[in-house]
Amino acid sequence: MEGESYNFETRAINFLDLTIWIDQAGYLQTTLYQKPCRVVSYLLPSSSHPGFISKNIPYSLAFRLVRIESTERGLEVNLGILEEELVSRGYRRASVKAALDKARSLSRTAILVKTQPSQNQRPVFCLPYDARLPGITDILRKRHRALLANDVDANEYFPSPPLVTYTRTKNLRNLIFRAKVPRIMRRPGLRTRPNGFFKCGKRANCTLCRYSTNASSYTCPLTGESVTLTQHISCQNVGIYLILCKKNTGPCSRLFPTYVGITGEGEASSFTHRLGGHVGTATQKCHEDTLKTVGRHFRSAGHCVERDLRMLPIEIINPQNPFLLRARENFYIEKFQTEKRLSVYELEHGMNLNRGQR
Ligand SMILES: [Zn+2]
Ligand SMILES: [Zn+2]
Repeated sequence: MEGESYNFETRAINFLDLTIWIDQAGYLQTTLYQKPCRVVSYLLPSSSHPGFISKNIPYSLAFRLVRIESTERGLEVNLGILEEELVSRGYRRASVKAALDKARSLSRTAILVKTQPSQNQRPVFCLPYDARLPGITDILRKRHRALLANDVDANEYFPSPPLVTYTRTKNLRNLIFRAKVPRIMRRPGLRTRPNGFFKCGKRANCTLCRYSTNASSYTCPLTGESVTLTQHISCQNVGIYLILCKKNTGPCSRLFPTYVGITGEGEASSFTHRLGGHVGTATQKCHEDTLKTVGRHFRSAGHCVERDLRMLPIEIINPQNPFLLRARENFYIEKFQTEKRLSVYELEHGMNLNRGQR
């Protein structure tokens, strides 16, 4: 069998990256062994790496050959092959030749001596690599010199500048592919339920059932922007909703006043429960002087809460994810242009106070 056992005819055996054989004079000789299926995949010089990486590759490969090759002829043959392979990967021939010559000048017996790499005592400064980064090492060296000049004790507690190392940043493959497979939802009936908002109809006293209509989408008559509901939403869910003034006379019939709201962060207060709060500010005596925009709006002249106020839940969002909740809220405020610009006493399309006022 080739490769795995001693061949009595050639008096050779392949082991790791070596072919070891016994020559005519009875000496052991070694040369490079490569699997037949090997492909040339040296790092491309154009790859996003610090410059010294691809600069060092020709020399370190040649260095390895000097260690491996026990005969002059074997070394020259394999250095020649290496040169062509590196040039085929886009390395400049002149710099490859220079690296190979540098390796040729080494003494094989000297570099075969086993050495212990020195342990790094310096603090490590690790950052993601970017080709646009300035010379970090030089900057640190300079600052370190300044530190030594300013503080006599610095030589004790910070004797040498930090060692700069880089981590790989996301490449195209990481950006395009998602390694995590989405969880398959297998709750019975979940797939068959249609998308849209549906009144629960279960509780006789459900506020939302009284102040809503079933809908599968919503289009703002003023901005023309629309949202299609992609979940099955009902009164007891939590997430994002719209409050609309449906008054069909006066300014509101032209302004289509709209408010984008969210149910409480981190708590499970449902759409219907939240609506109860809005209706309260608009109707209860104790909220007469409210500065809440929704309450104020439906207290303004000519309004009847029962007739004019409508809520439409548009998206279910897990309350454990306040960042997503806020991001979606802002998204819809932008989309439907519901930021309030005038004072709370004036009627206008938007009913969301800007971020500072909320
Ligand atoms: Zn309901
Ligand atoms: Zn109104």
